[in-house]
Amino acid sequence: MKHSAEMDITHIKKQFPIFQNNELIYLDSAASAQKPLCVIESIKSLYSNHYYNINRSVYKLSQILTDKYENSRDIVRNFLNAKDSSEIIFVRGATEAINLVADTVARIHLAKDDEIILSRLEHHSNIVPWQIIAKRNGAKIKVVDPDAEGNIYLESVMKLVNSKTKFICLTHVSNAIGSILPVKEICLEARSRGIITLVDGCQAVPHMSVDVKSIGCDFYVFSGHKTYGPTGIGILYGKKELLEEAPPYQGGGDMIDTVTFEKTTYAPLPNKFEAGTPNIIGAIVLGNALEWMQGIGMDKIHKHSQEIIKEGLKILKNIKGVKIIGETNLRAGVISFLYKDVHPHDMATMLDSHNIALRTGHHCAQPTMRYFNISSTLRASVGVYNSDKDFTTLAESIEKIKNLF
Ligand code: PMP
Repeated sequence: MKHSAEMDITHIKKQFPIFQNNELIYLDSAASAQKPLCVIESIKSLYSNHYYNINRSVYKLSQILTDKYENSRDIVRNFLNAKDSSEIIFVRGATEAINLVADTVARIHLAKDDEIILSRLEHHSNIVPWQIIAKRNGAKIKVVDPDAEGNIYLESVMKLVNSKTKFICLTHVSNAIGSILPVKEICLEARSRGIITLVDGCQAVPHMSVDVKSIGCDFYVFSGHKTYGPTGIGILYGKKELLEEAPPYQGGGDMIDTVTFEKTTYAPLPNKFEAGTPNIIGAIVLGNALEWMQGIGMDKIHKHSQEIIKEGLKILKNIKGVKIIGETNLRAGVISFLYKDVHPHDMATMLDSHNIALRTGHHCAQPTMRYFNISSTLRASVGVYNSDKDFTTLAESIEKIKNLF
């Protein structure tokens, strides 16, 4: 197995129970990453030895878990290089994070005829929440198009900016075709014009080190299950001033300071946005998963991911009849493609019989598909456990089954 210069894939793969004693080739980490043993064991150990509800009691068990929960928030703060832990909100996932920002921050910042800029490459979860709030507040959505290769440029975004632009909400990396957007440059321009920015980092965080201070965005979101952590937990990073002035998202326990029937006052950040019993174990284990990634080294992970995607692209392009959708070289983690006029579902079903798991469909990005005049693609996406050998096997399997179509 060819290894990246610095990452021992054999050793890493051994840490994933799902890959033991089988030939599974998992090329669907963009949908969800597999879990290393330390993450699985951490869940078991916390429920077995430390479980109680947090923030509620003075006895030891509850205190230990509260400390672990808050420690995890600090791990995330460090992971994203945010200024303050109170800017890190635990949510269910990226979808909930974007809905939260749309329903609270945008609710008070968007007036009639104001504009929100989105890209044609967004996941539905960075489209629909904005449509809902735009409709409610009478605002408009403007859409920036990629070029034929799937690249979005600062200039194309800036062409849409005017005095009515209040929000620019973009994905960091397209989940459908893999292109990396120049979010740092865009956020810089936005900031100088007082435009609020949100970056959807779901497909970036698993592949590169992310520094929200350096990007300069107001909000950054991602889902834990794509970063080797559990499902049902995700992160909203938000600038303190914007979160502080926004109304709460949900009301309930833990988000209040005082409650009377006449008036309720809210808890300070981050609790104001964490109503009810949170996903305690999920939040703690997400911290474990991020530290596990940092233990490998985010620079190494980035290098490895870039190397196999480059190699994978070369291997797939060599197959007669394969068409890459979005041919950009500025990509992370994802390659979308078609094989002749074979329906992606048919091809993926046959590949499944060869133990190769990859995603087909519109990838929750119907506008992206429409832009490329297609309804679905085959999508190969990678994680720390993949090597270029997986793409060689994928290519061999395509060669073997192509005559069936
Ligand atoms: N944005 C992007 C770019 C994604 O890839 C995904 C997950 N496919 C989401 C948002 C939504 O994430 P979740 O379903 O975990 O909330």
